[in-house]
Amino acid sequence: MPAYLREFKCIGAACSDNCCIGWDVEFDRKTWRKYQKIGDPEFRKLFEKNVYVNRHSFSPEVDHAKVRLAKDKRCPFLNPDGLCVIQAKFGEEYLSNVCAAYPRYTNEIDGMLEHSANMSCPEAARLALLKPEGIRILEDSAGLDARYIISMSIRTDDRNQGDLARYLHELRDFSIFMIQNRSYMLHDRIMMLGRFFAELQRLEDTRRMSGIPRLIEEHRRKAAEGAKQKPARPAQADPAFSLRLIRELIDKLNVFTEVDSKRYVSLMEEVLKGIQYNRKASPAENAKRYSLSARQYYEPFMEGHGFILENYLVNFMFGNLFPALDVRRSYDAFIMLVLLYALVKFHLTGIAAYHRGLSEMQAVEFIQVFSKTVEHHKTYLETITEYVKKKKIDTPEYMEILISN
Ligand code: SF4
Repeated sequence: MPAYLREFKCIGAACSDNCCIGWDVEFDRKTWRKYQKIGDPEFRKLFEKNVYVNRHSFSPEVDHAKVRLAKDKRCPFLNPDGLCVIQAKFGEEYLSNVCAAYPRYTNEIDGMLEHSANMSCPEAARLALLKPEGIRILEDSAGLDARYIISMSIRTDDRNQGDLARYLHELRDFSIFMIQNRSYMLHDRIMMLGRFFAELQRLEDTRRMSGIPRLIEEHRRKAAEGAKQKPARPAQADPAFSLRLIRELIDKLNVFTEVDSKRYVSLMEEVLKGIQYNRKASPAENAKRYSLSARQYYEPFMEGHGFILENYLVNFMFGNLFPALDVRRSYDAFIMLVLLYALVKFHLTGIAAYHRGLSEMQAVEFIQVFSKTVEHHKTYLETITEYVKKKKIDTPEYMEILISN
């Protein structure tokens, strides 16, 4: 688990974006049965009015019953001070599995449990992202001192799980090593990782996956030898192309009609004002203003705070078993990482321009809100990856243009 998880403790009423507001609240069967036996009249009233058995449950350990949210999308068990009535009255052991586990995220690989936290929780995001020294993964035989739900389970020796799963440890360790390689600027690290993934894809296409360990060694050596040297920039670093694509990807979210998070919607307004985006202006004019905003406000902040974005990507890769994500080809996993990076960079540039500067807390707050909106969206990341492929811009050349703008 990443070391920051040891420090995590829910801050409850002090939380700026409480997880009991706006999200489905689910009770596992064991907890639901425990609740049947509680005689407390206030609890009984809330329980009988708001809890129903979920006929579409996918696991009794997770969502046997569901809670009907109030009109403002608050969990009815949340009191006006933002405290959970169940936890306050009966103790943490009375929370359901989902409530007790969030924001922790658990996978099982070859029988070993891996825990991390989702950046949609403000406190977890603060702890994970504001680590200037980077995210450190540790092994701890004591395990996690909290409940958990296993999201993904992989056996690397199971042939049915495919070659990416077979080399999961090697590929993920190498990818994290590259993203944390501070001999290079963050965008150069991503660019170098992309060149590795382009070659990995060639191995996959020609069914030579046993060449992966050698390929990793080769790229490790190149990274060490070329330290302090920037990889060559793409010949055609076209900011108008990148900006247009980012706008198209954001349009797929239908921000102003379908996104529930008021905070994300208002941050998006700041972004568009910040970069002075004008739908009627030419792509080149918009791109010019965007590039200027990036140079004036985003880049100076990132010079001293690249670790925030680095930590975000590392946490994503560790928790999502990168590159064994739900993708068809290894290069698709890299595309998803690039899109995530490009989207975060675009938003932060706009927010920085709007406020004429950026603070650590603003950057962390944005990533938290973004993560809650985008990473918890059931299909968004897959949809935009497929969109890029459909447009036939899923090539290393286009990805490099996107990374460099
Ligand atoms: S989002 Fe995180 S800090 Fe906030 S209430 Fe939920 S678990 Fe606690």
